[in-house]
Amino acid sequence: MIKQPTFSVEPWCLRETMLNLDMLAQSESVFALSNGHLGWRGNLDEGEPHGLPGTYLNGVYERRPLPYAEASYGLPETGQTVINVTNGKLIRLFVDDEPFDVRYGELRTHERLLDFRTGLLSRSAEWVSPAGGTVRVTCTRLVSFTQRAIAAVRYEVEPLEKPARIALQSELLANEQLPGSGGDPRLGAVLDRPLEQEYQGAHEKAVILVHQTRQSGLRIGAGMDHLIDGPDVHIESRVFPDGGVTTATAVVRPGQRLQLTKLVAYGWSGARSLPAVRDQVWAALSGARQTGWDGLLAEQREYLDDFWHSADVEIEGDAEVQQAVRFALFHVLQAGARGENRAIPAKGLTGPGYDGHTFWDTETFVLPVLTLTAPDAAASALQWRHSTLPAAVERAAQLGLKGAAFPWRTITGKECSGYWPAGTAAFHINADIADAVVRYVDATGDEAFARGPGMELLSQTARLWRSLGHHDAHGRFHIDGVTGPDEYSALADDNVYTNLMARQNLLAAAETAKRYPDRARELGIDLEESASWRDAAQDMYIPYDEDLGVHQQAEGFTRHQVWDFAGTPADCYPLLLHFPYLQLYRKQVVKQADLVLAMHLCGDEFTAEQKARNFDYYEPLTVRDSSLSACTQAVMAAEVGHLSLAFDYLGEAALMDLHDLEHNTRDGVHIASLAGAWVALVGGFAGLRHHDGTVSFAPRLPEGLTKLAFSLLIRGQRLRVEVNHASARYLLEDGKQLEIVHHGKRVKLAAGKPEERPVPVVPARARPSQPPGREPAHRRVFGDPE
Ligand code: BGC
Repeated sequence: MIKQPTFSVEPWCLRETMLNLDMLAQSESVFALSNGHLGWRGNLDEGEPHGLPGTYLNGVYERRPLPYAEASYGLPETGQTVINVTNGKLIRLFVDDEPFDVRYGELRTHERLLDFRTGLLSRSAEWVSPAGGTVRVTCTRLVSFTQRAIAAVRYEVEPLEKPARIALQSELLANEQLPGSGGDPRLGAVLDRPLEQEYQGAHEKAVILVHQTRQSGLRIGAGMDHLIDGPDVHIESRVFPDGGVTTATAVVRPGQRLQLTKLVAYGWSGARSLPAVRDQVWAALSGARQTGWDGLLAEQREYLDDFWHSADVEIEGDAEVQQAVRFALFHVLQAGARGENRAIPAKGLTGPGYDGHTFWDTETFVLPVLTLTAPDAAASALQWRHSTLPAAVERAAQLGLKGAAFPWRTITGKECSGYWPAGTAAFHINADIADAVVRYVDATGDEAFARGPGMELLSQTARLWRSLGHHDAHGRFHIDGVTGPDEYSALADDNVYTNLMARQNLLAAAETAKRYPDRARELGIDLEESASWRDAAQDMYIPYDEDLGVHQQAEGFTRHQVWDFAGTPADCYPLLLHFPYLQLYRKQVVKQADLVLAMHLCGDEFTAEQKARNFDYYEPLTVRDSSLSACTQAVMAAEVGHLSLAFDYLGEAALMDLHDLEHNTRDGVHIASLAGAWVALVGGFAGLRHHDGTVSFAPRLPEGLTKLAFSLLIRGQRLRVEVNHASARYLLEDGKQLEIVHHGKRVKLAAGKPEERPVPVVPARARPSQPPGREPAHRRVFGDPE
């Protein structure tokens, strides 16, 4: 666990000035580079010591059996696990025969810096070898946003006091040994030697390897090529089983340097032949060689300039949160930028946590951010969902249902959850996907998507709800036996979140069928069917406890016994690792925002009074054993007027990985929580909601912030919003005109003409309490900021 901040607080970068071997694995996750297609953990160049070596290609996985003690119908029999593919990061350094290893000799200085504007990870070190040779090592690494198959490293060594014989060994290595996973169900399975070699070749300064996975039958090519500069350098390349190495040796004097620039390319396919994959890698390498190192750097900068232009969030008043939010946006971009119709996994491509699976995290937490800041990335993730529709239709049929049942967790689109009460039964994922479709279409006006994949997704999920639910004798529509976002309750009847999201889903499907009647006919949707969607939506039952005056998370929830929070020691969290689900399910204890998330995403379904009462009721029951909770609690705390609490939750969401708040950053960063930092600021303190084509704001800043400024892309126009305690200023920077809502009042914006509106004072309300020991984590670790 990182007890104290390890990184210096700077607005545009993350800097670590001392190497702490105890937190190597965490730092590998936060320093991971990715473009959504290829991911490199921030492993030290020399490979050892390491926390967890990691190189991932989006969509590359191995199959594994999912054994059950008791078989029953419909359980998925095969799991999928992301694999660590061929490592192209490795560059080993020898100084007069001594291997550069930070554990030996004297490491005088060591600094790593991730720059959010250049997209580069740089490292510099001064090291004295056990034999007394002193060198300065400088390296820079990138995973290209513009050439998605490419990563590159520039490595320079300079002797400081006397001449040294320097050898640089640049390596490609498959089937690296990985440390064991240790029993936490949230970790990924470690597969031993997942790759079988098919081809290897060395040519001058280049090496190429092609491997295949044993079960999933995927073919993976990796290649490296080098540009080498130094005094009288001797170079040779060779291959060995599962690897290849290019070695550059030279006698280097003080004032001289040996410089090696390594270009690495990856390609993979489940269908193409060995020569096709091999040649694809060569082609990518040639392209990168042609661009050159400086060209790759320039392209990277340009790509990121463009991103930050429409995505940056500026805040004043808290430098640490400012840095954390940019760090968060950088990782969210890295997770989705170049996925190109692949999924965005819960950990992005930064680690093997959750087996590399994608969950509802993407549609509910990540896509709302990308939709308004990098819409192409959002479109690509939704295209991926659409491409998995056949598997979802098949799954629904297997379950005896109509339409599509999307998997709770997956890599390819097939259900991989071996625990059905919190997997298959979490049907809300289908409405979450529909919600992401509606938001995307609403924000971008992408007609082709709306008529095409969007409409298929909406109608097939609507069919699911219609067949999953039923009307009772009083005409009320119920959806029984489902699991909502709170995984400490399962198989409940009429979970409010699920029912309200399903209602939105049904209505959106009916609306779309009306808007595109020709497509509706093609998809076999007749008037009868869309009328039945409207009926179910209108008759949806929403359980409410009249005595307490609050909504019930699900039917009967508020009459369950309240969990013994006072008797639960702080070290028994997360509860899922210390108590049986049997106990958790029977009690009022909430893992993560559920009813509170319903109030955020379906806000119009609740009155202001209900929101305030519900929030205060659920707050002391919510333990936040999931990183997906703090951001939602921040948004709703802000809306109901608990601004300082909202600020603390913002801190928890934003600092989840930089402070390793859940002690599992080693397995990869928490992409949804990082996206949640944006959601907490923009949805919480600027009060952004967008429903039915209306973009509304209700800004109110907490004491800890003096300014919040950000941009949003809405239908190809760029809106800039700046908020301080007294007023909000809206400016349509690119575009023609836009109507927005500020605290309930319409504001017409014309391009280039700022409009300023006052921010009403928020009346102070008594701060609700959390379960003992479960106060916002930022406050728990660093004390009360006030
Ligand atoms: C949460 C889920 C989430 C998953 C992956 C679990 O702990 O309860 O809601 O989808 O983690 O982030």
